Amino acid sequence: MSATPRVIPIQPAGDPRQPPPLFEPRRKVYARAVSGWFNRWRWVMVWATQLVFYGLPWLSWNGRQAVLFDLDARRFYLPGLVLYPQDFIYLSALLVLSAFALFFFTAVAGRMWCGFACPQTVYTEIFMGIERRIEGDRIARMRLDQAPWSARKLARKGAKQAAWIALSLWTGFTFVGYFTPIRELAASATAFGLGPWESFWVFFYGLATYGNAGFLREQVCRTMCPYARFQGSMMDKDSLIIGYDSRRGESRGSRPRRADPKALGLGDCIDCTLCVQVCPTGIDIRNGLQMECIGCAACIDACDGVMDKMGYERGLIRYATLNGLSEGLGKAQMWRRVLRPRVLVYGALLAAVGVAFVTSLALRDPLRVNVVRDRGVMARLVEDGAVENVYRVLVMNATEAPQRYRIAVSGLPGLAVAGDTALELAPAAERSIPVSVRLPAEAAASLNDRTQHIRFEVTQLADTGEAPTVQEASTFILPR
Ligand code: SF4
Ligand code: SF4
Repeated sequence: MSATPRVIPIQPAGDPRQPPPLFEPRRKVYARAVSGWFNRWRWVMVWATQLVFYGLPWLSWNGRQAVLFDLDARRFYLPGLVLYPQDFIYLSALLVLSAFALFFFTAVAGRMWCGFACPQTVYTEIFMGIERRIEGDRIARMRLDQAPWSARKLARKGAKQAAWIALSLWTGFTFVGYFTPIRELAASATAFGLGPWESFWVFFYGLATYGNAGFLREQVCRTMCPYARFQGSMMDKDSLIIGYDSRRGESRGSRPRRADPKALGLGDCIDCTLCVQVCPTGIDIRNGLQMECIGCAACIDACDGVMDKMGYERGLIRYATLNGLSEGLGKAQMWRRVLRPRVLVYGALLAAVGVAFVTSLALRDPLRVNVVRDRGVMARLVEDGAVENVYRVLVMNATEAPQRYRIAVSGLPGLAVAGDTALELAPAAERSIPVSVRLPAEAAASLNDRTQHIRFEVTQLADTGEAPTVQEASTFILPR
């Protein structure tokens, strides 16, 4: 008598007569630690970006903080460069440049930015690293979460939260240190004397770091990040993605290590699910390209490790293109498709804006001048019959050294500045001074129009060589 095969009934996940829920409850992702070539590069990027972020405000340049966005003084200090609000155009150009760079790199390399350099990824990586050190790897963390509260669980969870909060506050402090001199900020913080705005921003930025990297994590990439939404419009089937080679991997299934998969009718995927377990967004890359994939390459490292153990060729999950995977293209064939119209257009725009940005920054005037007629003082006759107009001249020293300037006027015969024409300014300082301009009586009598066009010339007095001069147009008014 043959034994009746044991049947395990398949249970529907929900009531099939009901529509699927609008909101799927969040499944906590317990990403498993992974090692490998891409993991090492991810940590190189973590260290590189964080050394820059935490270290830059402590660097000095010419006796001042090297990078400081001094909002009170309306000065942006960069190494070798002082920018004024009038230089806002450079910030706009930088944003345009960043946008084109993102378009270009997305068209070529998909979400490589997300996986290796995006602050959300970098901080999530750091927070997960702390979590692993304190609570252990995937299984240990799952067990700890499921275990009832005990002194051990309290100690581990408490230690993790303390480390996360300390890092978040340090991040908030560093962020504020880009806007307030960081050494003064540190002195105030250690004396518990932070001002209300400084305290607010330290805690606000710290809370944002904690919330995004410790609590929301992959939810930011899955549901909040706008880049994840519009990246599809910048990519095509020849953009680099991380993909599973289903032609090679299917049919998936477990098998003894030394078995011949072909004889068993199997592909190279042994269905170990390691690629899913290491994924920080909790997706299965074997289901194809998904919006949630941030391109971190953790699944490549995991799968390459499995392939090594099985004695199979690496690259079942790899950087490839959709066309490359579906048509079985080799690396050289995929590289040949990199230069396509959208990449050339994005590249040309990026190069043009980049060259314009660098050139205009290099040719930027070290001296800024703004002239405004003093509307409170009308044209007036002075003692010798000359006509006098009064202006306010704003001179900005955009260099890192003290400078002397001379103010002159031209455009009418005999027109001259009355009184002292010299001015001295400290590095990165500005001053608005009243300037009286006089036109001799005989020159004024020979003019018919009441409004005359004149030019202010402010010259930087250099001890040697060429000195920059800035000209600013204005008008000279004659009395009726
Ligand atoms: S890690 Fe590789 S072998 Fe394992 S399930 Fe994923 S694709 Fe298959
Ligand atoms: S699928 Fe792979 S590359 Fe994409 S997020 Fe998950 S682990 Fe990273």
